[in-house]
Amino acid sequence: MGSGLVLKSNGELLTVASDAFVFTQRVAGGMPYAIGIETQPRNPSQTCAIEHESGVVANADAMDTIVKCTTDRFQVGGQVTGLQGSGLTLTAEFGGTLAIDANGSFVLPDAVPSGATYDVAVTGQPSGAAVCRVVGRSGRGVVADASVTNIDIACAAREPPPMMRFCEDRACDDFAPVVVKICPQQQPQCVPTRSTRIHLRVDGKRVSGGLVTLNGTAGLVTILESGGAQVSNTILQWYAAPYVVVRSNANVTFTYYDLSPVWGGATNVDFESALRSNSTLDATFYRHVSYATPTAAADLFADATDAVNTEEHMVEMTSEKIDAHFVPTELVVSGEGNFSFGNGMVSINYGNPPYIEAMGGILNTAMPRFAHETSHELFNEIGRPYGDNSSCLNEGVADALGYTSGFLPENEFGPMGLRGLDFELDGCPAMTEMHDIGNCPLWFVKKAGLLTPSFLRSLFHPQHDYAFDSCALNRHTGNSLLVMYTEAAGDGTNLGPVLDAAGIPHAATYQAAKSELGL
Ligand SMILES: [Zn+2]
Repeated sequence: MGSGLVLKSNGELLTVASDAFVFTQRVAGGMPYAIGIETQPRNPSQTCAIEHESGVVANADAMDTIVKCTTDRFQVGGQVTGLQGSGLTLTAEFGGTLAIDANGSFVLPDAVPSGATYDVAVTGQPSGAAVCRVVGRSGRGVVADASVTNIDIACAAREPPPMMRFCEDRACDDFAPVVVKICPQQQPQCVPTRSTRIHLRVDGKRVSGGLVTLNGTAGLVTILESGGAQVSNTILQWYAAPYVVVRSNANVTFTYYDLSPVWGGATNVDFESALRSNSTLDATFYRHVSYATPTAAADLFADATDAVNTEEHMVEMTSEKIDAHFVPTELVVSGEGNFSFGNGMVSINYGNPPYIEAMGGILNTAMPRFAHETSHELFNEIGRPYGDNSSCLNEGVADALGYTSGFLPENEFGPMGLRGLDFELDGCPAMTEMHDIGNCPLWFVKKAGLLTPSFLRSLFHPQHDYAFDSCALNRHTGNSLLVMYTEAAGDGTNLGPVLDAAGIPHAATYQAAKSELGL
């Protein structure tokens, strides 16, 4: 029950803190008594009523007065702006589901009990061109003792996937098309007589970048004739072109979805997006229209919300609200396609159908990367304390946090590095790849049983301003890690053996390391 219930009897006020109450004033036998409610409880807000509130005291204590309290419920709502079309659906665990087809104020159908957390999500988007989001963190809170009216839902035009433009309205006019030709290996100077334009589209609009696999019988060569693209014989990746012209007399199909070319016309490669939004996360899931993934958007939204909340809780820090884009390989325009942009936006490449199949589902391909990139967004909030070059530390912390929060499998953390080296056999100074350099020392912290949530929390709240190159595992870095790790482990734990196991040089003690660093 709530606190602050005050009862009144014969002028005496009694604050009730438990299920039973007795007034201290005694009432003589034969005299009447009456009990009333002076103040109703708060936190949660409740309304109490009294049964057997009055009577005449007989020859024993009057103990049959019963106070029954029910938790108050309040409406939860807010405003919608920018809405066009119908089909906007909001859902909240306690508030129920509401379909909205007009701008203005809204109220969820079910009143929410005082003390309960409401968390409103956009679970259905309107039919028109706009998509709707929960603005900032306005959709979540705890109901106190009044209606909630400040949830903002804003609808606006769809954004293109990360690092892309929509090519409508001449937005791609300053880009040249990419032109490639595909020839038999024996005849790379072939002169194809047919061509097609690949239009990569999202929600019906052309986008300025992409990746297309070129599938055909072996023995073909792909030659870039003009435009900016990365070309191999089987992969074509570009980041700034209105479309791609493929010239070929060979039989090829495009993308992991095996699309047949429309020679002499446009070969449309169509993706559609599904955006879900709550106070933790905006998550856009893109899929090829032929690829049936009935629950992926909802599952990713649920798991990613859980991952953000878990990581934020673990390190006691928040970043900007996460704006996640789960893209198939075709919408990857740079590198492997996993990015943290430092402004809350992350891009996650969830792969392609054969890869997803091999990995056992989209969640298995996407969630470890998401947990990693979200950690980068949190690390970005630390700012100055890790001066010089914190990039390897940042990578190591991203996998350590993803692993500790339960979203990144152990074998993606260590001990095998990305370049085939083994942290435990080769030692950390042998590592050459930045994730490996970052993961390796933290792997030995984990091996020592010290990689706890509080250890990670401490790394996000350093006690000193450091200046070390986290990608150079020399004595200066070793001393910095010794101080950081010792303070993170707490209780005077000696971290020297952990650094020794990692093969990283350092001063003999925490104090000596501190003084060498001038801290
Ligand atoms: Zn990273």
